[in-house]
Amino acid sequence: MPEGDSLHRAAARLQVLVGQKVEVETPHPRAAAKRLAERLDGRILERVEAEGKNLYLSFAGGLVLRSHLRMNGRWRVDRRGTVRRGTPWLVLRGDEYEAVQWNGPILELVTSCHKRSSAPDIVTEEPEAARFRSVDPRRAIGDALLDQRIVAGIGNMWKAEALWEARVSPWSALADVSDDELAAVLEAANRMMSASVEGTRPLRHVYRRAGRACHRCGAVLRSAPQGEHPRTAYWCPGCQTGGSPPAS
Ligand SMILES: [Zn+2]
Repeated sequence: MPEGDSLHRAAARLQVLVGQKVEVETPHPRAAAKRLAERLDGRILERVEAEGKNLYLSFAGGLVLRSHLRMNGRWRVDRRGTVRRGTPWLVLRGDEYEAVQWNGPILELVTSCHKRSSAPDIVTEEPEAARFRSVDPRRAIGDALLDQRIVAGIGNMWKAEALWEARVSPWSALADVSDDELAAVLEAANRMMSASVEGTRPLRHVYRRAGRACHRCGAVLRSAPQGEHPRTAYWCPGCQTGGSPPAS
């Protein structure tokens, strides 16, 4: 069983990736089901720390990956592109090196203070609309949905699709979104993402469809960058009500 000291050694070896934008892959199907790559890929790895038997990898944007190796897990750091056999759980690829985790049964996103009790995971836990009422009401709902401190796990695609489903514009200020609308957005995200984990890919209505016709009302779909670390928001100006992007 990997003990704390071997984890500290792993943490030390992983420092070669700190400060770099890393490519993230989860080749093992059980790891892929956790949808970590889509949330971490391309983010800067800010810190790697061992604590107890956990390794915490902090990424830009307040995302922290907890890795616990249980009995047989291990980390390796090799030159980028090193040939390997088998199917690792996680690969973090930097400019020159790549870190590979094998047999890691516990791999999960936590919030930056390492407290699991904070944001509920959208797939496995009941969405908590109340958490959206405790943040700045001027914030746009599309921005808040990607804030992992409020709700964990909604990626850019599901944000777009859930908002379309509930007919709410990503640009609506939280103050202007009713409790029913908020509940509908969270319910849609939970339903679609759970289906995706089960292997069904729901039809995309807005994500990466800017310039094409809305399946519901026929209006031309739009896209624009949104948020502090901008990601592209997609929406229908015809049937998603309650706001438009700030004029630039
Ligand atoms: Zn529409």
